[in-house]
Amino acid sequence: MSDITPHPLPDALGHFGTYGGMFVPETLMAALKELTLEYERAKQDPAFTSELDALLREYVGRPTPLTFAQRWSEKLGGARIYLKREDLLHTGAHKINNAMGQILLAKRLGKDRIIAETGAGQHGVATATVCARFGFKCVIYMGEVDMERQALNVARMRFLGADVRAVTAGQRTLKEAVNEAMRDWVTNVSTTHYILGSALGSHPYPMMVRDFHRVIGEEARSQILEREGRLPDYLVACVGGGSNAIGLFHPFLEDKSVKMLGVEAGGRGIRRGEHAARFEGGKLGVLQGTKTWLLANDDGQIELTHSVSAGLDYAAVGPEHAYLKDIGRTEYTYATDAEALDAFQEVSLTEGIIPALETAHGLAGVRKLAPELGQEGIIICNFSGRGDKDVAQAAKAIFGEDVFG
Ligand SMILES: *Cc1c(COP(=O)(O)O)cnc(C)c1O
Repeated sequence: MSDITPHPLPDALGHFGTYGGMFVPETLMAALKELTLEYERAKQDPAFTSELDALLREYVGRPTPLTFAQRWSEKLGGARIYLKREDLLHTGAHKINNAMGQILLAKRLGKDRIIAETGAGQHGVATATVCARFGFKCVIYMGEVDMERQALNVARMRFLGADVRAVTAGQRTLKEAVNEAMRDWVTNVSTTHYILGSALGSHPYPMMVRDFHRVIGEEARSQILEREGRLPDYLVACVGGGSNAIGLFHPFLEDKSVKMLGVEAGGRGIRRGEHAARFEGGKLGVLQGTKTWLLANDDGQIELTHSVSAGLDYAAVGPEHAYLKDIGRTEYTYATDAEALDAFQEVSLTEGIIPALETAHGLAGVRKLAPELGQEGIIICNFSGRGDKDVAQAAKAIFGEDVFG
């Protein structure tokens, strides 16, 4: 954690304006307060920050490069596009920045058991990895549907010693996995730390997860200044819960000339149950610990969601994004499954880098934005993860065949 700059938000109870907060069962309040306190202590403690810095460098693979996408920029005929290469991190996505920070906190808290939820499996893999590295017991909750579409990551977690538990309730995806993890935590809170995987949930998670990912934006900021001698015009990132996006955006918030675009999952189109674009079809509500924009019907019932990418397929968005949108600091759009798949192919073919399907949503946003900005423009897109986990699904969608039987 090279530089955790104090930022006015959230307040002491986790509010970003009207968003955020701590909407949890009474039994978890003590644990969340203990976690907040210990986190505040840890980030002031040079022993903690230097241990984390060393691990990020020597184990996780930081700093990641900022790659100029030359052929893709030329093809689009507009802005110069740079890719912040979180796909090159150990385990293949940005998730491990946060998992590493939190496992060091769990150690400080004297816990010996870790639980986590996972959708695409990337957060589960990152968590199982740091548990193996530090010798923690590890239980991962994952929806049964996600276990099928992300079988590769299930196997990886098991190699790493994690107990992967199938969640069979409801839609059998991420939301239900979070419910199970919360239930486990209530029961085992004295021995167990919950490594939440995005900038979501009750305070202190949205703040803490953001802070552990700020390193993305800090590096990108100094890399672009060195490379171009000026700040970028736009930052672009896909938004599931919003952790990779807020990690890139946050260190640029005070740079008024830098615009920021988050790209949500438009699925099969903005129709009820067919997408996960919370800022398109959503409303204000409370889900799994936090008040934010979410997809719900008129009775407040959470809607079904759909996205080709499991990692963006969630009904709520991180509360800080809701706040930043309200104050006009960030903008949001969406990419459909088809647009994401087009971007997936185009970037693979022009740059030789196969993105995760989540990342491909951000790239789809860049594809529209770059020509509009013109050739003087500079865009940094967060390349949140690599496409290995999505090979079977993308092959089916693109070649129309089941290449793995
Ligand atoms: C999990 C994941 C995402 C979405 O999560 P955020 O918290 O919104 O960043 C995006 N990209 C990849 C590669 C992921 O694994």
